[in-house]
Amino acid sequence: MRILVVEDEKGLADAVSALLRREGYSVETANDGKTGLEKALSGRFDCMILDIMLPGMNGLDVLTYLRVKEIEIPVLLLTAKSEVDDKIKGLDCGADDYLTKPFVTGELLARVRAMTRRLGMAQDINPRYGDITLDLKKGELSCGANSIVLGRKEFQMMEMLISNSGKNTTKEDFVSRIWGSDDDSAYNNVEVYISFLRKKLQMLHSNVQIKTRRGIGYCLEGA
Ligand code: CA
Repeated sequence: MRILVVEDEKGLADAVSALLRREGYSVETANDGKTGLEKALSGRFDCMILDIMLPGMNGLDVLTYLRVKEIEIPVLLLTAKSEVDDKIKGLDCGADDYLTKPFVTGELLARVRAMTRRLGMAQDINPRYGDITLDLKKGELSCGANSIVLGRKEFQMMEMLISNSGKNTTKEDFVSRIWGSDDDSAYNNVEVYISFLRKKLQMLHSNVQIKTRRGIGYCLEGA
């Protein structure tokens, strides 16, 4: 599950991202409305947390634009306490739910879970590539009758590789969405986890391989 967080208060954006990552979501952030809109239009996200008061383009304008373009991504709006009218406007503009700031973390997670569940989100559709399937509920990678449990980070990386299938996933993509920081250790971790995933693909006797494109990234082959 990939979540886009659009919030200009960096402390809050970082805290929300860290919280969601701990729960196993892949997260990307945008700190202004325009960047948020561009990312949402890319279609790479399953769900969006959108602040209303944003520099450049406010959250309600972002939401209106998405709905005009018939982008049906589920949106949880964040509103400040004083913006009661904005809640109503937000729901009119096509938000799925809203949360008033300040909120407790449990409440945010509950809203995200409720929103994705209510909308019958892709949790039931297991991503496939070639002879492999990723079981989202069990956290397993399977090939024919064989299956193996993946660690959380391995799982998130495999999910990204499959959803980008045919295209490259860069180290930066992995680091920004899974680790959320760009220190060197996170970059080294990518290589380590890729090697774990390669071993697991071999153990499953899969035809799928993770190819390294030097200086570009990683991509699946063998479909
Ligand atoms: Ca704000």
